[in-house]
Amino acid sequence: MAAVTNDSSKKEFNFTTFQNVINGELKTTETTRHAISPHTKKPLAEVPLSTSKDVDDAVAAARAAFPKWKKTSFEERAKALNGLAATIYEYQQEFVKLNGYELGAPVSIAEILIHMGAGWLSETAKLHPIDEVVEDTPEREVIVRYLPLGVVVGIVPWNLPLHCTAAKIAAAVIAGNCIIIKPSPYTPYSGLKLVEMAQKFFPPGVVQVLSGDDSLGQLLTEHPGVDKISFTGSTATGKKVMQSASKTLKRVTLELGGNDAAIITKNIDVATIAPALAGVIFSHSSQVCLAIKRLYVHESIFEEFRDALVAAVKAFKLGEGVGEGENDPTVTIGPVQNEMQYERVKGFFSDIEKEGWKVAVGGTIDESPGYFINPTIIDRPKEDSRIVVEEPFGPILPILSWSDEDDVIARANNTRMGLGGSVWTTDLVEGRRIAEQIEAGSVWINSHMDVTPNFPFGGHKESGIGYENGLGGVKAYCNVQTLYLKKK
Ligand code: NAD
Repeated sequence: MAAVTNDSSKKEFNFTTFQNVINGELKTTETTRHAISPHTKKPLAEVPLSTSKDVDDAVAAARAAFPKWKKTSFEERAKALNGLAATIYEYQQEFVKLNGYELGAPVSIAEILIHMGAGWLSETAKLHPIDEVVEDTPEREVIVRYLPLGVVVGIVPWNLPLHCTAAKIAAAVIAGNCIIIKPSPYTPYSGLKLVEMAQKFFPPGVVQVLSGDDSLGQLLTEHPGVDKISFTGSTATGKKVMQSASKTLKRVTLELGGNDAAIITKNIDVATIAPALAGVIFSHSSQVCLAIKRLYVHESIFEEFRDALVAAVKAFKLGEGVGEGENDPTVTIGPVQNEMQYERVKGFFSDIEKEGWKVAVGGTIDESPGYFINPTIIDRPKEDSRIVVEEPFGPILPILSWSDEDDVIARANNTRMGLGGSVWTTDLVEGRRIAEQIEAGSVWINSHMDVTPNFPFGGHKESGIGYENGLGGVKAYCNVQTLYLKKK
């Protein structure tokens, strides 16, 4: 069985064993399971396969910890979050290895994911939902209060294990809640390790983690002792989560899939923008909810832009950037993460011949020991083809052309998804005009995927319910109470 080999044995936390955390204690389960290496398809370290008894124990521990935790000060909560953020950096090299181990991420992506994990903890620590006096007259005072909900379950997707775990912990605990994390069965390791580290800073029961298969998700979403589900994952599963949560009217925040369009106007510097965009589009092997999944390029620059994009893609290096030995920082793209995803993306490749798609670059998948896929661009497939309509969530991109502004906006919006979108132009009036008409939760002019812990992030349409990040995102982990104080 492969393991993360490094000098972590000298340190407080080792990166070779991974366990649940229930009520401040490391626990394993009678039966265990493991994930699979995206580089080699070999089994990775064993992790717990939690049962309903583990769920009951974790929920009971969280409920027991909540009355005391909710009375802690923001300063105390922030201090714990900052301590955890610092510990991520203390173990940066180990987390780089772990990101290669479970995700197949190359060094550059692993480092970004680690900064995001730590950054979300320390930035969210500054977001304090304090009481607001909304009326103060001689007759009465009216105060809006934000009260923690109780026990939150954070359900994490496979593509962002460290970042999503950190973000959910941060928002839940700064608002005064306890949280139980459920990592993805495909990438459980970073989440398990982060929650183990959290025990150094939080009282037992405040931050817990249970690893298991998909059925564990349902046990948690249906549990009557849980008050809120913060779910990040696919739209299909998000709908099931909402259904389960409705039984006890749990609060839900759903961060779901996307099919982001980027609109490239004729007012750009092709030589600068095309290579920059190639990096954004294929980063993390395009396994990002907010990745650009449809590229609309103005017809007057189409060929020039496509060729520049193709040249940039040809310069990528596909491979194992972070393996058991020395890291290879020249690798820019890793494999896709799992078999299910590999087969799904392969389905789009088999459509190439069937649908007669024109391939601008890539188009084949070479034999490899893992789930490696050559980054691929499809040149102007039909607007209703599967590659345009669906979220491939892998390194295959349709590039389309446009000439009429209203038409391209309508095409960008012709989807049930509404996560993000972008416009690329040197004419900021044009940029703003187009951007304001895109139906999505995050819209950028001259950037994409540029998310921070400080501003709201959520999906329109079937890309989600509610939003996370920013003070409003933290308030979503609270019940609102309006207090009416009659003075006379
Ligand atoms: P998924 O929906 O298959 O799984 C997400 C999580 O839900 C996993 O932990 C899984 O075990 C759990 N789960 C599965 N069935 C469940 C059930 N019935 N009840 C409760 N939990 C259940 O998604 P995935 O394949 O892990 O992630 C990829 C998807 O996530 C993509 O669609 C991507 O766009 C989306 N995503 C969205 C965001 C965002 O912030 N909007 C971020 C990252 C990924």
